[in-house]
Parts: sequence; C-alpha cells; structure tokens
Amino acid sequence: ALGAGELGPEQEGLVVAHYGTQVEVGDADGLVRRCHLRANLEGLVTGDRVVWRDGDPTGVVVAQLARNSVLSRPDPQGRLRAVAANIDQILVVIAPYPEPHANLVDRYLVAAEVVDIEPVLVVNKADLLEQDPALAAQMAELIGIYPSLGYRVLPTSTRAGGLQALEEQLRGRTSVFVGQSGVGKSSLVNALLPQADLRVGELSELTQKGTHTTTTARLFPLQCGGQLIDSPGIREFGLWHMAREEVAGGFREFQPLLGHCRFRDCRHEAEPGCAILEAVEQGKISQRRLDSYRHIIASLDQPQAGR
Ligand code: GDP
Ligand code: ZN
Repeated sequence: ALGAGELGPEQEGLVVAHYGTQVEVGDADGLVRRCHLRANLEGLVTGDRVVWRDGDPTGVVVAQLARNSVLSRPDPQGRLRAVAANIDQILVVIAPYPEPHANLVDRYLVAAEVVDIEPVLVVNKADLLEQDPALAAQMAELIGIYPSLGYRVLPTSTRAGGLQALEEQLRGRTSVFVGQSGVGKSSLVNALLPQADLRVGELSELTQKGTHTTTTARLFPLQCGGQLIDSPGIREFGLWHMAREEVAGGFREFQPLLGHCRFRDCRHEAEPGCAILEAVEQGKISQRRLDSYRHIIASLDQPQAGR
C-alpha cells in the first residue's frame, strides 16, 4: 500500500469517466481509481488511454496516449469538443417502431463515416417483425440497400435470445449505441451490462455529484467482452452539426466519384456534368440515397439543425 503523498509506478489505463478536474481510470484488472490530471491534460475524455500512477487517496494521470478515433461535438459557441475517444464502432439502432426514415438512418451512417468510425446497423425489436409480415416487408425494403453498400445489418431483440449476433459484434471492441428515442437503446444496454457494474457506476456518480444525473460519457465493460461508452448526449450523435463539405463524402458510394464532377465546387444538385447525378441516372447510385443527401444538406441550412 502507498503512504500519503506517495505515488506508484507508471502504468497504462483507460479513462472510464470524467468529472470536472478528475477522471476515473480503469486498470488492466478492471479496478477503477479516481485520479487528478497533470497540467495540459484537461482535454481528456472517456475512452482515452493514459499513463497514470496510483496514489492515496487519488492517483495522477501523467500522459495521454494517441487516439484511434474521437467523437467531437460543437459546443454552443460552435467549437468542436471531444466527447469520447477510441471508439471502434457506432451501432446505429433502428426499430419498426418508432418508424424509421431513410434519411435519418443515412444521417447516422454519414455522421459515422465523417468521423471515420465503422457504423453497424442494428435492427432492434426483431420480435415484432416475426409477428407481422407487412411490417417485415417494410423493414426489408428500408434496409435492403445497406449490405450492398458494405454495411453490416444485425437484427436484435431484447426479448428472449435475440442478442447473440450483437454480442458477437461487440466482443473485443469499444462501441457506442446511437439512434432515435424509443428504438430500445436503454433496453439493449441494460441487457448487455452486468448488473453489478451498472450499480457501481451509478453509485460513484451519486457520491460525487449528489443527485445530478449522468450527462458525461461513461465506459462500461460488457458481459460478453468488449466495452461500451454511453451517455444521453452520445446517443444523439448523428443529429449533431455536420460541416456541409463533409456530407457527400459520408455517402460511401459517392466517394469514388467525388472530384469527377465538371465543377470543382459541385453541390450535386442540378449542375451539368455532375458525376453523382449521372451515376443516379445510370442506376449505379440509388435515388433514395441522393434524396437523403439532399435532405441532409437542406437540414444544415436551418438554424435548428445542428444541435
Ligand atoms: P430508447 O429510448 O432507445 O432507450 O428505448 P427504450 O430502451 O426505452 O425502449 C423503448 C420501448 O421499446 C420500451 O417500451 C421497451 O420495452 C421496448 N423495447 C425495447 N427493445 C425491444 C425489443 O427487442 N422488442 C420489443 N417488442 N420491444 C422492445
Ligand atoms: Zn456533382
């Protein structure tokens, strides 16, 4: 055991939560320790890999390791602020209810492409599809295009036995769940977390902040292996503001054609010699994806769009 003021050897760890000027760091054995931050490390976020030294009553984080990926969100002044780091995949959850709209599904996928994190489409409430062929046909029509674009589509159900494929996808990776309210994200998270860990998370949040509810991201080890980063804000990822110039590149099948339009600043609306519009005419790009592109661009023109 360390005496007062003593620090242990340097070791690697993972930021599992962030509270103002302190973070919680998890070590390789899953133990969690509260740590202060050395100067210039204020920008650490949940998911960051760090070098830290144990101490009593708090340890200290001495360095930040390189990030593989980062989710950033514009603050009210429009400055991008990191929210979570080292995410391997974004699970975009949809369900038959609330009814999914193609342009919203595409918006989530595009936002994931823009931050260069692999999105996976999770079709939750699959149990409802089994009972209702008409609903199943509607869903099949909506999601049919995505495997051909290279996206993985996983049916899930939080009812009996519907999580095996998802657990396979989560194992060994760091993931986030995003999607519309009501699709079943909380239900999925609750089904995947070992109950004890959830309680520990809630407890430490409580002692630190009274009854204040969690708004910052927290990292949870999953029962099936792998880890989940979750917060109410992260679940809305995809509705965050995107830069207009980034949107076209977020449509996977547009990418090889960008730069081949007659006009360098082509917006792929009605310009002559537009490679995207030609590809749509030739049936190489789906009209529906072009409609989504236009819908997203139009939404960025409205002041309310970038929350
Ligand atoms: P969130 O807003 O995305 O977190 O959604 P919730 O987890 O709160 O779920 C919304 C509603 O969908 C709740 O009434 C859940 O019981 C229900 N739900 C969640 N998963 C499933 C599922 O796999 N099948 C069915 N039939 N209902 C589900
Ligand atoms: Zn064009």
